[in-house]
Amino acid sequence: MTSVINLQQIKQQISKAEVDFKRAPNSVTLIGASKTQSADTILAFHNAGLSAVGENYLQEALQKKAQLASHNIEWHFIGGIQSNKSKDVANNFDWIHTIDRFKIAQRISQQRTTMLKPVNCLIQININNQTSKNGVSSSQASELAQQINELDNIQLRGFMVIPEATDNPDIQRKNFALTRETLEKTNQLYGLTLDTLSMGMSQDIEAAIAEGSTMVRIGSALFGERKFGERKLSKRK
Ligand SMILES: *Cc1c(COP(=O)(O)O)cnc(C)c1O
Repeated sequence: MTSVINLQQIKQQISKAEVDFKRAPNSVTLIGASKTQSADTILAFHNAGLSAVGENYLQEALQKKAQLASHNIEWHFIGGIQSNKSKDVANNFDWIHTIDRFKIAQRISQQRTTMLKPVNCLIQININNQTSKNGVSSSQASELAQQINELDNIQLRGFMVIPEATDNPDIQRKNFALTRETLEKTNQLYGLTLDTLSMGMSQDIEAAIAEGSTMVRIGSALFGERKFGERKLSKRK
């Protein structure tokens, strides 16, 4: 099992970045990106102080969630959403980060049981228009936000982004800044109060926090390297 020692280290890294970039204390939430990690590993991290996890693959997530049902863990969905599985996505997560079209938002709003609070949702923006990534362009994001904001069982909170991988901190910051500016512009344009930016992963935590991230999704730096490659996992249904 992965050791939990990295957890305090990552939390300190986040706190330091909050100070360095004049962000309010505790304004950045840590989400453990726990794909491929076992329920036991998640529980060990939860017991050590990790309150939220993000999962990419629905079946894997539902299995772990069932195993951990007695624990007060906040579940985030951070994977691609297939429309034929939207009902389970709608009803099993506190947050959905990967809304990329109106139709899927509409389905989620219709399928979310009214026994639950409206689900917190983020629109995924494809900031570099990468063909390999889901998400809407930043020019389409504002209008989509305005439409989704009208849906009953969705609480639209902001945007999520996975910029192209680079170890150049200037480029990292530029992409995150564009995402933040898109959120500010959307709020101004439509009088919304979107307050969440899900941005930053293991390699770009600081740049994301510098540019206003409120949620970082950390996998390998927290849990160690994943045992299976992304490619293999992405073929799983
Ligand atoms: C895997 C994953 C992460 C975490 O990536 P690391 O580089 O391992 O920190 C964050 N967000 C999403 C959507 C992911 O799929």
